Order: sequence, then structure tokens, then C-alpha cells
Amino acid sequence: MRQSKYFLKTSKTTPSDDISINAKLLEQGGFVQKVLAGVYDFLPLGLRVLQKIENIVREEMDKIGNEMFMPVLHPKENWEKTGRWQGLDVLFKVKSQHGNEYALGPTHEEIVTPAAQSIVASYKDLPLAVYQIQTKFRDEPRAKSGLLRGREFRMKDLYSFHSSAEDLEEYYNKKAIPAYEAVYKRLGLNALLTEASGGTFSKYSHEYQVETENGEDTIYVCEKCNLSKNKEIYQEGAECTNCGKTTWRETKGSEVGNIFKLQDKYSKAFNLQFTDKDGSKKIVLMGCYGLGTTRVMGVIVEKFNDAKGIIWPEAVAPFKVHLLGLSGAEERAAKVYKEVKNVFGESEVLFDDREVSAGVKFADADLIGIPYRLVVSPKVPEGQVEVKKRNAEKSETVPIGNLAHILKK
Ligand SMILES: [Zn+2]
Repeated sequence: MRQSKYFLKTSKTTPSDDISINAKLLEQGGFVQKVLAGVYDFLPLGLRVLQKIENIVREEMDKIGNEMFMPVLHPKENWEKTGRWQGLDVLFKVKSQHGNEYALGPTHEEIVTPAAQSIVASYKDLPLAVYQIQTKFRDEPRAKSGLLRGREFRMKDLYSFHSSAEDLEEYYNKKAIPAYEAVYKRLGLNALLTEASGGTFSKYSHEYQVETENGEDTIYVCEKCNLSKNKEIYQEGAECTNCGKTTWRETKGSEVGNIFKLQDKYSKAFNLQFTDKDGSKKIVLMGCYGLGTTRVMGVIVEKFNDAKGIIWPEAVAPFKVHLLGLSGAEERAAKVYKEVKNVFGESEVLFDDREVSAGVKFADADLIGIPYRLVVSPKVPEGQVEVKKRNAEKSETVPIGNLAHILKK
């Protein structure tokens, strides 16, 4: 992609009303643009990151469920049935010009549970799991912290359906937790499984927390096994439910996912039943598993940055390679662009061919944070290119033919 033709402008302006690192760097780097508080345009550069995150999530979720797509606009009756039309304070409510009322979905139990009624009849149909990656809404009184708490955001939500508590437990522990761990590993995040209060559903739910300097949650991490507890359920000196140790360290975390055993809360409200082996009718049990993909993008930026800009993990970087062609070496740079595209793929190279100073190009490359920076300048000998990893101190000059080998190393 030639940067001179790309829908991208970096900026030095700091967002006046949002001091979070992710808001600052993502807006300055030209990834997102604020439309209103908590609502962003994802510009081409930002959309590439989001799509890479969502593709990783999709690949791992396909192993434990089927993808579907549910609407944003929900009938009021469904939310009245579960008591959440009044009970959920952040529910976004809209009134049409014809006087009908709707909810904009912040989560989809009210839609997926009735949808399952036509699929689930017998114990033979269970277990089942479906998920979607969808735009969600929350009527936040004060949206701030960039992508961490939006009014409109993207989320993967998976729902599982079971004939018994044991089956729900097994799916939760042996399918959902390993799938979540695979996602975070591929995203380059060390996410800690964290016990949180289960609300009305069960004793515990779990959150995944990433340790960040400015994290909004206080968590306590077991010094032996890394199991964590959210502040609201932590008791000093409590035994770790995983390893039995009683020493914990306090730290700050940002939540990147949450999983719940819903039990029969929603299936009861919609009378979602199945016929068991003995012919009796029973209520289906459910679990739900959320992962905010735009939020994860914000947390990655909070975690991986320095004074100059973002340092994207390779798996989610908008491009693999940022090629800078400096003044006086334009033709050579264009040739190198072709060769580098052949090695790394047509869509993985951003080529800074703009008529701006070397200083501007270097500063923008650091701000945008693509993993590998290549420079072609009059100082670099013919047939060679200067390579620098975004988080490395020094660059090296190498023959173009050796690039693939060096970058893979
Ligand atoms: Zn432990």
C-alpha cells in the first residue's frame, strides 16, 4: 500500500478530553477518529488491526461453536421478559417515529435464547454453542478511556446450551477456557484467569485480566500459580482455589474477556426446554462467553508502547513491514517495494512514498508501530536495505535477498 494514496493522516494533537494512552496513540496514529464520546470511526489502518484480532478470535471460536449473526435492534418484549428492560441501567433504548420501543443490544441472551427454541428439542441435540462478532451498544453516562469503554463497540459473544450442570461445567473448563487461552496467546497477551463475583448466576464468574500500568481494576495474583482474584471478592490471606497457597500480590489489570455460567436464568425466562432420556421436560442450562474485540485493541496499545508510539505484536500489526523511501532514492525504493511485496504478501507492506522529510517519516513509523521498518536512502548501498525492528535499539543494513531470512529470525 502506497502511503501517499492511503486514507491516513497522523496528528500531533492530543485528544483534549481523553487522557488514556490508547485514545492518544490510536487517534494520533490515524487508526481511529472520534465521532462522539465513546464512538469511533475505524480508519483503514485501524480496521486492519481490528480485523486481524477478530480473525484470530473467529478461528479459535470455530473450534468450540458455530458462527451466526444476530441483529442490533431488539424487540422491547424480549428484554421485559428477562426483567432487563428496567434492570440493566446501561441498556440503550430507542423509540421509533411510529411509537415502538427497541433496545440496541449490549449482549444477546434475549435474542439467542428464543432462537435456540427451534433448534433444541431433545437431550440428543445438546450440547450446542453459537457465537457472533457484533457491534454492541451501552448507554454509558460518561464514555472515556478510548476503546476501553465505548458507547458503541465490537464484541464476540458465544452462548452454550446444556442438558446438565456437569455438561456445562465440562464445556466451560475444557472447551471455553482453553479456547480463550489460545486467543490471548496468539494476540501476544498474557491474560490472567481472574475470579470475579458471579452476580446472581453462580458463585464465581471469570474475567481475563491483562496487567497494565493504568488498568481500571485492582486484582490480586496468586504468587505460585497466577490465578487472580478481583478486588470485590478478594480476602486477605485467602487460600488460592487452584493451588492452596495464601500469598497474593496486588496489581492493576484491564479486563479483556469474561465468562459466566448463566445456569437457567435466561432459559427459564423464555421457557427453553428439552426432553430428557426419561421423557421428562427439563430447562436447558446456558453459559455465555464475551470478548470485546475493540476493547482488546485498546488494551494491546495500553500494554505495548513507548514514548514514540505503539509497538504492535506481529499477529495484529496493521502491516508486517513499513518501507520508507527517502528523498534521493525514490526509484530504488519503488523497486524494493515490489520485491518486498513478493516476499511478505501484497497486502502486508506499507510504503511511505510521501514527499515529506526523513524526520517526519521516521517519527510516523515509530508512532504507527509496524513491527519492521525498512529504509532505502542514498546512504544505503544499492541492493541493500536498512532494517530495524520497532522495539530494537539499532538497525542493520542487509542485502535485499536476505530480508526474508532475517525478518523470520
Ligand atoms: Zn494459586
